[in-house]
Amino acid sequence: MIYIHIPYCRQACHYCNFHFSTSLNTTDTMVKAIIKEIDTRKNYLDSNLLSSIYFGGGTPSILTKEQLGLIFNSITKHFKIDSNTEITFEANPEDITYDNLCFWNELGINRLSIGIQSFHQEDLTWMNRIHNVDQSIKALDLVDDFGKLDYSMDLIFGSESTSNKNWETNLQMTIDRKPSHISCYALTVEENTALHHHVKKGTKKESPQQKIKSQFYLARKFLQEAGYEHYEISNYSLPGKNAVHNSNYWASKSYLGIGPAAHSYNGISRSWNLSNNIHYIKAIAEHDNAQVSEQLTETDKYNEFIMTRLRTKWGINKKEILQNFNAKYNQYFNSEVQSLIQSKLIIENKDSFTLSESALIIADRVSSELFY
Ligand code: SF4
Repeated sequence: MIYIHIPYCRQACHYCNFHFSTSLNTTDTMVKAIIKEIDTRKNYLDSNLLSSIYFGGGTPSILTKEQLGLIFNSITKHFKIDSNTEITFEANPEDITYDNLCFWNELGINRLSIGIQSFHQEDLTWMNRIHNVDQSIKALDLVDDFGKLDYSMDLIFGSESTSNKNWETNLQMTIDRKPSHISCYALTVEENTALHHHVKKGTKKESPQQKIKSQFYLARKFLQEAGYEHYEISNYSLPGKNAVHNSNYWASKSYLGIGPAAHSYNGISRSWNLSNNIHYIKAIAEHDNAQVSEQLTETDKYNEFIMTRLRTKWGINKKEILQNFNAKYNQYFNSEVQSLIQSKLIIENKDSFTLSESALIIADRVSSELFY
């Protein structure tokens, strides 16, 4: 699977800590660098048949048709795509036009991930999103009428501006669309974001944990009742519509990350590209390489396995942990997991260990209790 990071946005959302730049004058040279990186790293994966391609960012839908066409040509030159390859493209509502939908579909994109976040203007303004509610609704109408693309809707809960009532309306307006997939992210205040700065100055407030928790469980109840499967902490899908790309991450499959700040993993080492557009472009031009990498120790692999598996509804498979890790890790896991079972944070099933209902909201904390 391949991840392509498109590091540009028209406006910075206040909560965002992804790598992006709002200065758009390097997009042509960036596309050239991305193509060169694809050429250079075409043999990174064991197989050149791709199960998924994910265009994330940043805002991939900011690219012109020509730029996107060039990246696609480079991918199809080196990799095989078949009818099962999931090709996801993150699109913001302001970029969704009939013309773009036709073009994206012709390229082979079969799934959109649409950054809606909220159907309430006060939330969008609070978050400093560039689009308004009308644009979101028009964009979704267009995608529904177009009818050829599966789509996921991204929502954010737990901001100061989002009341429980607003959140419930957001969920209702989302399920009314029947998207095959819904991601619900808790708003977190990350360092080095405009939101962090506002919170420090006192001009915006971080929501109490209790509010985040109640909106998390409200979504779980609401979406499950509407037929969605809560298959990962932040992700819901209609039966059979789990995101292939993300599920591959959680199953520790190898992936190639292209573009600034993109991460790669091949089971032995993990690498990440420079997260600065100019430095990335320069490094690719001069050395064909913008990566920093680290070898993974057995402990790194074990901890990562615990963290990713526990976030999913399938949890930690007993056979898999036995097969993948030596006795030292298995003994450690078996002793640590007992106290989490006793405190009702983990449930022991016949073949697996999964988070209990009450532990879903503290998944990372529970995982860290099992880290070696
Ligand atoms: S949330 Fe998305 S659109 Fe907003 S700044 Fe971050 S990457 Fe860009």
